[in-house]
Amino acid sequence: MSTRVELHRLDAVVVGGGGAGLAAAVYLARQPGIRTGVISKLYPTRSHTGTAQGGVGAALGNCDPEGDSWEWHMFDTVKGSDYLADQDAVEILCREAIEVVYELEHMGLPFSRTVDGRIAQRRFGGHALNFGEKPSRRACYAADRTGHMILQTLYQQCIRQNVEFYDEYQVVDLLVEENCCKGVVAIEIATGVLHVFQAKAVLFATGGWGRMFEITSNAVTLTGDAPALVWRRGLPLEDMEFFQIHPTGIYKLGILITEGVRGEGGVLRNSEGERFMEVYAPTMKDLASRDVVSRAIYLEVKQGRGIGGKAYVNLDATHLGRELIEEKLPDVADFCRTYIGIDPAIDPMPVQPTAHYAMGGLPTDPDGRLLADADGSIVDGLYAAGECACVSVHGANRLGTNSLLDLLVFGRRAGLHMGVFAAGSDYAALPDDPTGPAIEALERIRNGKGDRAVVIRDEMQAAMTEHVSVFREEPGLAEAVAKIEELRQRFRGVKIDDTSEKFNLDLVEAFELGCLLDCAYATATAARNRTESRGAHYREDFQGRNDQEWLKHTFQKLREGDKVEFSYRQATITRFEPKERVY
Ligand SMILES: Cc1cc2nc3c(=O)[nH]c(=O)nc-3n(C[C@H](O)[C@H](O)[C@H](O)COP(=O)(O)OP(=O)(O)OC[C@H]3O[C@@H](n4cnc5c(N)ncnc54)[C@H](O)[C@@H]3O)c2cc1C
Repeated sequence: MSTRVELHRLDAVVVGGGGAGLAAAVYLARQPGIRTGVISKLYPTRSHTGTAQGGVGAALGNCDPEGDSWEWHMFDTVKGSDYLADQDAVEILCREAIEVVYELEHMGLPFSRTVDGRIAQRRFGGHALNFGEKPSRRACYAADRTGHMILQTLYQQCIRQNVEFYDEYQVVDLLVEENCCKGVVAIEIATGVLHVFQAKAVLFATGGWGRMFEITSNAVTLTGDAPALVWRRGLPLEDMEFFQIHPTGIYKLGILITEGVRGEGGVLRNSEGERFMEVYAPTMKDLASRDVVSRAIYLEVKQGRGIGGKAYVNLDATHLGRELIEEKLPDVADFCRTYIGIDPAIDPMPVQPTAHYAMGGLPTDPDGRLLADADGSIVDGLYAAGECACVSVHGANRLGTNSLLDLLVFGRRAGLHMGVFAAGSDYAALPDDPTGPAIEALERIRNGKGDRAVVIRDEMQAAMTEHVSVFREEPGLAEAVAKIEELRQRFRGVKIDDTSEKFNLDLVEAFELGCLLDCAYATATAARNRTESRGAHYREDFQGRNDQEWLKHTFQKLREGDKVEFSYRQATITRFEPKERVY
């Protein structure tokens, strides 16, 4: 491989050009004298945030006569999380929501409007008025292109503030020694040249890792790079057992049909035409939280009420009328016409649960600082935000609209904190051979003689889908852990066809598979370890939540010989004592 290495020195480096990374970069670059770079393996506006459809949650109270309150939003978020979210962090999320949404409006984001010109809001799962009384309209939206608009708006602000962009550079190693972050190493995809970025502060904002599963709403690029790189450096991951399976992906394809469809009045029906959510969640019905709706769909299918005996149900929006669908859900209508030849104004949409969102990830405090341990100690200069981070505001199950909100609130907080930290710090000396481990890892892939990456990936996705999905139990989890261990061994000899330097996407994809295998290993081992059911983690052999033993966050570190070491941190309870979750 190329022996050329280029060195860069920046005050702050953001890894990831999605919503979280760009939110942080905007607030970093606003601080005088802070030279800020964004490294992104994708051109930033192609990041996955751009696919977010339904909305961003904030208690503006524009569309309900009763108004809204951040405290009701907080209650819903804590309840949705099955009481595992840290309530001090959730309070920050819901209080600051209102400000970040108005800030986006002032930056120029074209929100949909009410007739009197205010930001329009719609219903979303698990969001209610007055501590769960009835569904609320809390999702601020721009048709069904909310994420796209957020990404474009933030990108324009970054350009305006002279943020430096390193597009199509992929970070392949983290430089950290004795809990002090020194920078990152990236490969420039177009040339194969390695770049060392020395920085006073580094933020990871690399998104999710839904590609561990066969059916997912996630793009091929969502491969958990940051959690893997950090875990390999002996630092912890938090709550990896909690992975959200969204109820409504297009059957077999996994492409997401936003909860906004149900927010606008769409309903789920089984093969008998019954609106089955009335049975599982009498108050919130189709707008119960996602873990509840996904389990209900699985049970309907298991009891023989899937459409035509198959593993899907119908999402019926035909009664909403063409005008509403074209105005408020134009992209959904377009996806259905393009991918399955269905017009949702005429026919119901075939849907099945699809792997969607990582609640766990890199543990941080509310300023985005990475935790080195369950005791709350910090890694100096290292930060995370967005889907790859775990603050934790989503606990065991995230509410719709709270991810875009999370990345805005905590991206901004991380950016502000990093700027202050960088202004008061010197550059830490780089390790003696900063590119050594990265070169070794990439060369091993280039010279591998074993299985092709695609073979290992298929086996991983099959094991995760069968054993670590909506329902879990010990024998299946043990099998999944053993399988992932075997695949991690086989990955050491992974083979690629293209060994060239320039635009070697074969190499990049194999590197990403290694990251996915780390995330899958962490997820399966943590799921096996947690012997209770909570939110998205449902154990058939340990049904019911066990607050006595498990009202705590999982921390796990990777040790010598692929051993996983667990420790725990109690969930922070401030306002709402845990109680039974009923929708
Ligand atoms: C179809 C869909 C619809 C959704 N709708 C909603 C919604 O309506 N409301 C809501 O709140 N949430 C929604 N979500 C969830 C939400 O969109 C995501 O959780 C969120 O956008 C993630 O943002 P992020 O900035 O953390 O990551 P992303 O936007 O995924 O960005 C990740 C960035 O990291 C970069 N990157 C990754 N690895 C590397 C590396 N090794 N080196 C360099 N760069 C790297 C990528 O290039 C990219 O720029 C939806 C998700 C999906 C899939």
